[in-house]
Amino acid sequence: MDSIVRKPKIATVWLGGCSGCHMSFLDLDERLIELASKTEICYSPVIDIKEFPRVDFALVEGAVANEDHLHEIHHIRERCRVLIAFGDCAVTSNVTGMRNLFPLQDLMRQVYKDEASPSAGIPSGGVVPKLLERVRPLHEVVHVDHFLPGCPPSADAIWNLLMEVIAGNPPNEPRRFG
Ligand code: SF4
Repeated sequence: MDSIVRKPKIATVWLGGCSGCHMSFLDLDERLIELASKTEICYSPVIDIKEFPRVDFALVEGAVANEDHLHEIHHIRERCRVLIAFGDCAVTSNVTGMRNLFPLQDLMRQVYKDEASPSAGIPSGGVVPKLLERVRPLHEVVHVDHFLPGCPPSADAIWNLLMEVIAGNPPNEPRRFG
């Protein structure tokens, strides 16, 4: 009797980034069809699923910039086997982390009061997630299994990484691809 081989489940996640890494993912073009035949893409900004499921691999774009991101990355870490920091914002905080050069309260005052309206309030949570004092790369918050640098990583670098993790070839130690 033929055995049924389960396809690995994959998620892609968008935290504090510009979505450019996901644009590069879409640049896989026709290779997306091959990827869909080898894996089950369970969760992504490009498909409409609200709850993060248990998955084998999660590609996470963007840094951890606010309290929602913090909650989300811990939830993802609990529910994925292999977590990949996807792009420079996830790896180093990069563009998202440029605000770390300024004290948060000074920045908020300038953006919402000095440059907007003196009567404008400074958001402090609620509808707008509360910003963390410092933007943090993923590995400062949770364990990261693999790093895929680039701003954004090329489609070829994404493909090479995915083929290696799907084949089960990556070493046990955290590693940089690309
Ligand atoms: Fe955008 Fe570059 Fe950050 Fe990716 S690494 S989210 S392309 S700024």
